[in-house]
Formats: sequence, C-alpha cells, structure tokens
Amino acid sequence: MINFRDHMISEQIKCAICHADINVSSPIFQSKFNYSVICSRCKNLFNQEEIEIALNLFTLYGGYFGKYRDDQFSIIERLLKIVENEDENFNPEITDMKLLHFALIHGITPGEFNRSLEALIKD
Ligand SMILES: [Zn+2]
Repeated sequence: MINFRDHMISEQIKCAICHADINVSSPIFQSKFNYSVICSRCKNLFNQEEIEIALNLFTLYGGYFGKYRDDQFSIIERLLKIVENEDENFNPEITDMKLLHFALIHGITPGEFNRSLEALIKD
C-alpha cells in the first residue's frame, strides 16, 4: 500500500482508469500488479481481469477510460480502418487489443465491447 497521507500532500491522486480525482474519504482499490489506484466507480464497472487489461492498454497506447466519451463510436468503421492500416501484417490479436483500447477511451467497458462484437459477428 502507498502511504496515502504523504501522497496527498504532494499531489492529487487520480484514478488510473478514468483519471477522476480520488477523494481522500472515498474507498480506493489498487491493482495487484502495478499499485495503480482505481476509483470506486471504475471498480464497479470493471472486474479484476478487465482492470489489469485496461491498465496494460493505457500503458501501451495512452489515454484513459472515457477520454473521448462524446465521440461517435463505430466498431465496424474502426475495425475496417485498423484492418486497412495493418494490411498484410494483419494480426487478429493486436487488432483486438487496439479495438478494445479504442472502446475504453470512448467510455465503453470491456463487457459492453464484447457484447457489441458478438452482435456484430451474428449479423
Ligand atoms: Zn475511475
């Protein structure tokens, strides 16, 4: 555990997922792997595995959950664009990660994202 009191003197703590300021009186949660602090709202929206995946994606690609919340989000459009850019180097796993990252910065949880993908595949 970080020393919460000392930390508060120097800087405001922000949620590692959504970058919301974390109130000193609210309960906080920490990632098991990198000690990131996560707000209670994100803790409710994401399960433990999804938190670790999201933190990894933000480390890799930058941004945070809900950064572009107001943007129009189209998985199909984005998928086509990524596939276009990847060309013959197309790697389904990396494309999945990029798409999930894209969903996260638009405020879509991994659960919602997977349901959208499933609906897409069924069509
Ligand atoms: Zn948060």
